[in-house]
Amino acid sequence: MSKKHKHFETAVIHEGYDAKDMLGSLATPLFQTSTYTFDTAEQGERRFAGEEDGYIYSRLGNPTVNVLEERIAVLENGERGLAFGSGMAAVSAVLVALTKANDHILCSSGLYGCTFGLLTMMQDKYNITHDFSSMESKEAVRALIKPETACIYVETPINPTMKLIDLQMVSEVAKEFNIPVVVDNTFSSPYLQRPLELGCDVVIHSATKYIGGHGDVVAGLVVGKKDFLDSVQMTTQKDIGGIISPFDAWLLIRGLKTLPVRLDRHCDNAEKIFEKLRNHPNVAKVYYPNDTDHPDYFIRKKQMKRGGGLMSFEIKGSKEDAQAMLNALSFVKIAVSLGDAETLIQHPATMTHSVVPEESRLEMGITDQLIRLSAGLEAWEDIWNDLEQALNKINVHAVGN
Ligand SMILES: *Cc1c(COP(=O)(O)O)cnc(C)c1O
Repeated sequence: MSKKHKHFETAVIHEGYDAKDMLGSLATPLFQTSTYTFDTAEQGERRFAGEEDGYIYSRLGNPTVNVLEERIAVLENGERGLAFGSGMAAVSAVLVALTKANDHILCSSGLYGCTFGLLTMMQDKYNITHDFSSMESKEAVRALIKPETACIYVETPINPTMKLIDLQMVSEVAKEFNIPVVVDNTFSSPYLQRPLELGCDVVIHSATKYIGGHGDVVAGLVVGKKDFLDSVQMTTQKDIGGIISPFDAWLLIRGLKTLPVRLDRHCDNAEKIFEKLRNHPNVAKVYYPNDTDHPDYFIRKKQMKRGGGLMSFEIKGSKEDAQAMLNALSFVKIAVSLGDAETLIQHPATMTHSVVPEESRLEMGITDQLIRLSAGLEAWEDIWNDLEQALNKINVHAVGN
């Protein structure tokens, strides 16, 4: 992977594409094609045999998709990138590639709801077991590693409670056992956090979120060592087939160009809203990585450039109060997903984490009062005014607070 541009802000715009190769087209061309013609039968034979470079069929490679894959590899400081049709296609391609029947996966306690669903399915079908750990110390991680542990799978910040895990610490333990560490970096994007630089092995993104940034595409990305990603491409990507469409890759190439600009604004807005929320009388707790009073704050300083655009808060009241607060909002949108220009709000217990059994859900800290907010790019004063008027409508006295 050639890294031509020193600064992240330049790399998001230029890496992986040279207009000279494409008739001077400033924008990356969209190669909306399923297949590629061979000049001769012999050329087709050579391409299939791997003796000649060149495109064959779009499930095996596409020039637009390749620009995206080269760019994300550079941004995450990895050797190779691969694009998928969704974040879950990326998660499943990686986990299936890393495991075989009867293996074990050690996970952070708190996972994206569908990743939790995938792990449950792998356990039921292939006896691939898993344990959860809050990974607060080396001892805690070591204690749960078994001879059959195939990988450590981490989300940080954890969805939706925003707890942080020290990635360098986890990767040091993993190296003692020669186990790869896979990190779902969706919440931070490579602008805020680069797990490979902290010793982790594989990075996964739901590119649907900050990388796309405009709420108009569902896609996934994986970055890691070339050997591993070559094997993912030739097995779980090629044969299971969760590839991205060229148009969606084109949208992500466009979205990436403004990633640092957008992320700084998301963070600015989130910091302001965090301060306001924590001082509101109807809010019991706010979880945000940039909370200087939080015991995990040193991890934020160590591995994240800023606190990000996401936070969760617990209201004083009941599940019905939480739902009433959402219903009282005017322009803040009730929707799952995150990282869009629009401020989005959702109720994890009944939405993103409704598939998680209640006991595990409560262990993860996902109460009925918890609300997750993705700060958008609007004026923060307008976002806060909308949240405040909705919070003011919660009748805390009625529930005895
Ligand atoms: C959204 C999300 C996913 C799944 O991605 P899709 O693009 O929806 O398939 C995985 N992990 C995290 C942390 C997410 O937020």
